[in-house]
Amino acid sequence: MRAIVASPSTPRYLWTAAAGRVRKDAGWGPGGIFQLRDDVSAPSTPVGGGWVRLRPELSGVCGSDLGLAHAKISFVLSALYRSPRMIPGHEIVAVVADAGPESALSVGERVVVDPLLSCAQRGFDPRCAQCRADRPHLCERLDEPGRIGCLAPAIGFVEPLGGGWGEELVAHESQCRRVGDIPSHRAVLAEPAAIGLHAALRWQRSGDRVVVIGPGTIGLLVTAALRMLHPDLSITVVSPGAFGDAQARSVGADRTIPPGAGVVTTLADQDGGRVLRPRMTRVPLLERGVDAVFDCVGSTDTIDLATHILRPRGTLVLIGAAGRQTADWSLVWHRELHVNGAAFYAPEPDLGRHTFDQVVEWLSDPSYPVDGLVTHVYDLDDWTQALATASAGPAAQAVKVTLRPNSSVPLVGRSVAL
Ligand SMILES: [Zn+2]
Repeated sequence: MRAIVASPSTPRYLWTAAAGRVRKDAGWGPGGIFQLRDDVSAPSTPVGGGWVRLRPELSGVCGSDLGLAHAKISFVLSALYRSPRMIPGHEIVAVVADAGPESALSVGERVVVDPLLSCAQRGFDPRCAQCRADRPHLCERLDEPGRIGCLAPAIGFVEPLGGGWGEELVAHESQCRRVGDIPSHRAVLAEPAAIGLHAALRWQRSGDRVVVIGPGTIGLLVTAALRMLHPDLSITVVSPGAFGDAQARSVGADRTIPPGAGVVTTLADQDGGRVLRPRMTRVPLLERGVDAVFDCVGSTDTIDLATHILRPRGTLVLIGAAGRQTADWSLVWHRELHVNGAAFYAPEPDLGRHTFDQVVEWLSDPSYPVDGLVTHVYDLDDWTQALATASAGPAAQAVKVTLRPNSSVPLVGRSVAL
């Protein structure tokens, strides 16, 4: 079958990553680690019931895929992401191509895929303590291959099951959610929308004002989730440029502010609160700050900004893929801030259901305002252009860039211009 294959273990690539030399085209330039191949083995169905074969309609390009493409990877997490070869693509809307006779799914049904591979999919019995506690996203055995032979926590980072950037993949029916006739350009957002909702739920609401940093797909879907959960919440999005501003407002932001130290003075001007200016450092402090900040970037500057604008005992939800960053932690202890990491999706005690089930319901509701987020669809042949466009982001008027691995699988709903 045809698929894009990534081989992130080449010495040249690892050296580039270890040296911290983010290279724009480490994935697709000369000697790059991604290749489009016609001779990839079809994914093997693991032993045991419940596995289905899927053909993707659309698969998203995620920030983590771009991190891989740019040699910006976490060596700490390499303890969990160990595949020497992988087929990327974990944001998937697909059609069931084959299902066993006992499967609850039927051939031709459309599904989205929760890509996580925890104890249930790996066939571990008894399951680990985290899985038993209904936290499969924090599974203690994500590094063990189990019956599926996969050396990473999720579809999209492994080879044996295939991935979204190929013509076929295999998933367990427990990972699939039916999407009926939800348009393709909405359904493909299920995985990042689930990340956005899970992150929104990592803040136990206390107060009325929040700031979301970052107008990319995750920032927009965190904003959309916060708006769905809290219709009366004041949501400010820190966003550079008119394109991101319009997108942020379309998903429920009350206002946008350009990034930088001006965020502090703008918040003080508009909502009240004093601006305190430290000696020698650039960013002022906001006295009477906001209740929560959702940092969807995870850079030194955004983490620093977040701690400077939070009120005492406010909450920083860190969703951006921060790695080794230098930030000043003074305000974390001095103001007793809470720092909550957020990743993946799970059964949500606050909702009484799984994140994926909630977002599939939202995606089927036209009032969940995410129609404008998929800005690009590329055939597999044009994958380098897809990665370049996704990397350019707002400069290319791009939010969610997607690949269409099977031209014979029809898209549902409106078409998206290239
Ligand atoms: Zn587990």
